[in-house]
Amino acid sequence: MITARSVEEVRAAVATARARQCRIGLVPTMGFLHEGHLSLIDHARDAGAGCVVVSIFVNPTQFGPGEDFETYPRDERRDARLLEERGVDILFAPAPDVIYPPGFSTRVVVSGPSAPLEGARRPGHFEGVATVVLKLFNIVGADLAVFGQKDAQQCAVIRKLVRDLDVPVRIEIAPTVRESDGLAMSSRNAYLTPQERSIAPALHEALHAGERMLAEEPGVDAERVEQAMAQTLLNRSGIELDYLRVVDAETFERPASMDRDLILVGAARVGRTRLIDNIPAGKETLARPVTANAGTTREK
Ligand code: AMP
Repeated sequence: MITARSVEEVRAAVATARARQCRIGLVPTMGFLHEGHLSLIDHARDAGAGCVVVSIFVNPTQFGPGEDFETYPRDERRDARLLEERGVDILFAPAPDVIYPPGFSTRVVVSGPSAPLEGARRPGHFEGVATVVLKLFNIVGADLAVFGQKDAQQCAVIRKLVRDLDVPVRIEIAPTVRESDGLAMSSRNAYLTPQERSIAPALHEALHAGERMLAEEPGVDAERVEQAMAQTLLNRSGIELDYLRVVDAETFERPASMDRDLILVGAARVGRTRLIDNIPAGKETLARPVTANAGTTREK
């Protein structure tokens, strides 16, 4: 595995792979890797990437004031070992001033799916995401890029960015990888105390109740599904609900009709940790849990 720190280094490594006729797959991450991240590498290979580039960059512009940028978990040495074991070709791990040199002043604003829910609660978050992701696309020049369904609203924002700006990259979305009790894997799960960890799967259970209702009651409306999801958390202590919604998978607004591709999305706080999760529930994407390796669960 080649470790590149600068734009020139990563471009040179990618050019060498291209000269060998490899298709280039990009997997952007903020590091502190877990099986969810690593599954994206496998997804890139399955989608035809002969050369997989993983970026590790804790992007300051997507954190708001008072969020966890400084304390976000980091362990590049361990990450590099995991990537090497997974057969990654290129690790791109730039310092902040490589991505944001002095004088940097451009921001990418994707209106629409970046406005509600996470966008409303984390002002500027999706601008920071869209800006860094577009930079990574331009730096690496990948044929395909893989993102996790875990961050469903981020996926909608990136898809729109690519469509609106004709970015020549294919976006692949990989299913959420879960712990055996349903908790979606996340680098931030490292913040949970053992007691909080035992409460955290309640968010997924709530979404799962909504998924069941959609499957069992054809014609049910979004409000009823949302009530059913919220009901499951009513008498749960230790988890503070932010939202549980049924949204259109493209716009992230209330669906115009329940025949659209839908996503059940939720956010909650457990201790000082903010958890987000979702279950796709459209006709094409009905969540179908299947068992993956070593105690983890993937869903499509
Ligand atoms: P992050 O390091 O949190 O920015 O995540 C990097 C990429 O990994 C994003 O595309 C995430 O959606 C994806 N990801 C994070 N957690 C999971 C998970 N549990 N399953 C699948 N993908 C994930």
